[in-house]
Amino acid sequence: MIPHVKVQLGKEEEDRVIEVLRSGMLAAGSYVQEFEDEFKRCHDSLYGIATSSATTALHVIVEAMGIGAGDKVITTPYSFIATSNAILHAGATPVFADIDPVTYNLSPTALERAVKNHPEAKAVIVVHLFGLPADMDEILAIANKNNLIVLEDCAQAHGAIYHDQKVGTLGRASAFSFYPSKNITCGEGGMVLTDDPVIEEKVRILVNQGQRRRYYHEMVGYNYRMTNIHAAIGLEQLKKLDLYNQKRIENAKFYDDHIVNPCIQKPVSPPDRKHVYHQYTLKVKNRDALTAYLDANGIGYGIHYPLIMPAQPAYKDIATCSGTWPVAEDLANCCVSIPVHPALSQSDLTTIVEVLNHYR
Ligand SMILES: *Cc1c(COP(=O)(O)O)cnc(C)c1O
Repeated sequence: MIPHVKVQLGKEEEDRVIEVLRSGMLAAGSYVQEFEDEFKRCHDSLYGIATSSATTALHVIVEAMGIGAGDKVITTPYSFIATSNAILHAGATPVFADIDPVTYNLSPTALERAVKNHPEAKAVIVVHLFGLPADMDEILAIANKNNLIVLEDCAQAHGAIYHDQKVGTLGRASAFSFYPSKNITCGEGGMVLTDDPVIEEKVRILVNQGQRRRYYHEMVGYNYRMTNIHAAIGLEQLKKLDLYNQKRIENAKFYDDHIVNPCIQKPVSPPDRKHVYHQYTLKVKNRDALTAYLDANGIGYGIHYPLIMPAQPAYKDIATCSGTWPVAEDLANCCVSIPVHPALSQSDLTTIVEVLNHYR
């Protein structure tokens, strides 16, 4: 069985964690700040605030923007649920604009339409899905014209580049995830990046129980802090990010070059951006047949995602969730992600290609 996801942790992570355990500084500690500093430094960002997850990072970003009850935030219908949940957690309402059929990211045309229908929308959360940067020039232009704050969900795109600029530095603030399946992990964890000191301050206070000074609570905050244990793992993982991404890109290139099957549509990576292949997602007409075939051949896979966000049962009472998003719905019916993680061997890759090329 070739697994769809394989977490890579080494002695470096082990040693650091043991060091933290022995220090007794399990919660707050120097590694949290060190991880923030390293992460912001490699993004040329002014501020980095570590959090417990990308979900909590997104939540406090939205709240720090002053977005809440009665406000609308535009986003893609095609992402992990956390993207739109963060909008709801802040008390606001998500408005979904369909995706582009080539990049699977938020379509600028659909965004423009959503702004026309919801001129009161305050912000847009862009997701760089599967590791591919969204069409940022077009999206930023539309946002500027319409006074929309641009926020980035970079949970799947650590190190991805759009026109020589790393994702996470293109909007007002961004969120990253360090969940085990992501390009690098802490176990659970997240990071907010921003160049705006006002947002930085609010986010920092919100994630720490609304306090700047211990036991003086200026806001009703949360415990969304990252622990020193998680940060220790993150620090070691961050050193390996470029290597991991390079391997993901090489694996994807092998698939691009060798998967030749008219039943299978491969993902597209526009030349003006660096795709870091969190997922390598295929499109097939009869997905159940392909997944049964992959099961039979011992190849792991993932369905990202079987349901678009507005169609989730949890969203059934939200008015903005009735409608159609045909491009996203089609992808939800046809998508299959195959293993692309850095632990794949050449023989794994060859096996996967052979199996896919024999699929009829
Ligand atoms: C994983 C993911 C999240 C949530 O990240 P957590 O750290 O698990 O909270 C948010 N958005 C996207 C696009 C994701 O893939």
